[in-house]
Amino acid sequence: MTAGTWGTGYAGPIARARTARLGPAERAAALSALAGGEHDVLVVGGGVVGAGVALDAVTRGLSVGLVEARDFGSGTSSRSSKLIHGGLRYLEQLNVGLVREALSERSLLLQRLAPHLVRPVSFLYPFTHHGWERAYVGTGVTVYDMLGLSMGHTRGLPQHRQLSRRAALRIAPALKRPAITGGLLYWDAQVDDARYVVTLIRTAASYGARAVSRTQVTGFLREGERVTGVRAVDLESGTELEFRAQQVVNATGVWTDEIQAMVGGRGMINVRASKGVHLVVPRDRIHSASGIILRTPFSVLFVIPWGRHWIIGTTDTDWSLDKAHPAASRTDIDYVLGQLNRVLAVPLTRDDVEGVYAGLRPLLAGESESTSRLSREHTVAHPVPGLVMIAGGKYTTYRLMARDAVDAVAHGLDGRVPPSCTDQIQLAGADGYQALWNSRYSLARSSGLHVARIEHLLQRYGSLVGEVLDLIAEQPALGRPVAGADDYLRAEVVYAASHEGARHLEDVLARRTHVSIETWDRGLSAAREAAELMAGPMRWRSRQVAREVEYYRAQIAAERASQDAVTDTEADAIRLGAPDIVPVVINGADRHGEPAMAQRADGPALAEGLDHAKLDDHEERADQAGRSARAGRSGRVGRMVSRRH
Ligand SMILES: Cc1cc2nc3c(=O)[nH]c(=O)nc-3n(C[C@H](O)[C@H](O)[C@H](O)COP(=O)(O)OP(=O)(O)OC[C@H]3O[C@@H](n4cnc5c(N)ncnc54)[C@H](O)[C@@H]3O)c2cc1C
Repeated sequence: MTAGTWGTGYAGPIARARTARLGPAERAAALSALAGGEHDVLVVGGGVVGAGVALDAVTRGLSVGLVEARDFGSGTSSRSSKLIHGGLRYLEQLNVGLVREALSERSLLLQRLAPHLVRPVSFLYPFTHHGWERAYVGTGVTVYDMLGLSMGHTRGLPQHRQLSRRAALRIAPALKRPAITGGLLYWDAQVDDARYVVTLIRTAASYGARAVSRTQVTGFLREGERVTGVRAVDLESGTELEFRAQQVVNATGVWTDEIQAMVGGRGMINVRASKGVHLVVPRDRIHSASGIILRTPFSVLFVIPWGRHWIIGTTDTDWSLDKAHPAASRTDIDYVLGQLNRVLAVPLTRDDVEGVYAGLRPLLAGESESTSRLSREHTVAHPVPGLVMIAGGKYTTYRLMARDAVDAVAHGLDGRVPPSCTDQIQLAGADGYQALWNSRYSLARSSGLHVARIEHLLQRYGSLVGEVLDLIAEQPALGRPVAGADDYLRAEVVYAASHEGARHLEDVLARRTHVSIETWDRGLSAAREAAELMAGPMRWRSRQVAREVEYYRAQIAAERASQDAVTDTEADAIRLGAPDIVPVVINGADRHGEPAMAQRADGPALAEGLDHAKLDDHEERADQAGRSARAGRSGRVGRMVSRRH
């Protein structure tokens, strides 16, 4: 920590935190280190569970690597309802143990581990029946509140309140008066799920973990039965690598079955994917001072406050199509609108919808249960020596999942590993956050930014806000909002690329910020400026900037078109029409049937020329890949590149 010096006028006693950067140079160094020696633990998957495992393991004193095939958090962990909750529904299913654990985690995250990223949110539960509903729901929420108070934590959230019809309508005038008989207001917590994952990874990196994105595990290294590491492809360059580890932890969520197949199909865990779709609408479309929770025929529907927007969801249907880009169909969107419109005085239409996103729940598969009834509990398996599998669970309980996985790792390491201490490890930006929040007016004065802007920054970066303000102090033009996405400053885009592991335009517009769901044009008008801002830290030249924008536009066009399709199959086919800027490898080829980059005729030369310390040629390689992707299918397969660093 060093004394703060932002702007010209401010010299107060506010300390400024720093933590590990995840920029291009750090990625290159991490790749070299991973390939250069054996680690105690190698985590496959950079969602919340994998990131949590990395932090748990590294803070127990283990050497740790983490490998993510796409962007950090780009799987389910950026596509959730963004609630840190016990889940009233699980209480109704009498899953008291899960609810208690989750509520205990909620307290810990809110109060100690990540108060800058996790914050309270209230929900109005409108009653639509007389009598029994108030008693039934009231009893459930009382138990929910009591469980939240147990486990020795003060929970930092108000108790629920019963409301008359008039009081409920005062809180949510948007509700249709005749549709409701009264209500109940209770409290839970919410999180920016995508940012939380990146913050977890940065925290783990600050303790020494090596984390790389856009690097796909394609197989296991074996000595007899034992797993001794993984084979992986750096998808940015096409280089094939081997990472050795004493223990490999698979935390790939809905991709678990694919990883199990790599160990010879000895599946111990069956994960089933269930699609959940959310809509984003402007805040003024629903007049309410609180979030709202509604019962639906199969589950519940949340209306969740999200900055100047509402997030509304979700659905719960089986999904067996593309896992990286689950597509929302017109049927999904109409279902969500239909459920909400049952209680709204002024119904919403598709024209009110600014953004749409879909995610896949990694459910531990049962026999024939409907997906909404499958357990949200997790399981850990040790199918062969050297490999630990962790799957299931929910976002809220990621820390417990990570603890259990590393306990299994410790078993494999002959028990010489101390117990988990992540209940004491604050995430990057948490330390000093409260003091900075209390000083937000003086920070606003010293930085020249409006206090609302400072609050927005504090709730995204916590006490790391100084790193963003430093960028603005060096280049005042970065203190301006991004045109077409004015909730975000230009400095935030630069910071995403230099410090937060964003490697492509979509990483910034969809996950470091949420421009892709928070603007009517889904980030199209902001895309060029954002790509130009990334060009500095990424060392892109103009061709790469244009390429990033081109891929982003194609992706948005495909998403929009898929949302007009009626069935999942049609929506999936349309969405897959837009290529990924960094395609993953599927059975030796990328998702579009193209030989994986290292296997293409142009691949070996590109990959062998790669020096991970020098990223100057990145643009050239990316352009080659783009040309190759656009040129269509040549059918030529070059020789495989195998190179260990
Ligand atoms: C619609 C919806 C709403 C939800 N709402 C909530 C909620 O409000 N609260 C809550 O607590 N939970 C919620 N959940 C559940 C929660 O989001 C998930 O349980 C959690 O995010 C799963 O995280 P994960 O790390 O297991 O999976 P993921 O986030 O999917 O991470 C797995 C990662 O593995 C990577 N990967 C796959 N294969 C490879 C490979 N070969 N090499 C390298 N990397 C690979 C993937 O790219 C991916 O990033 C929700 C889920 C959904 C779908």
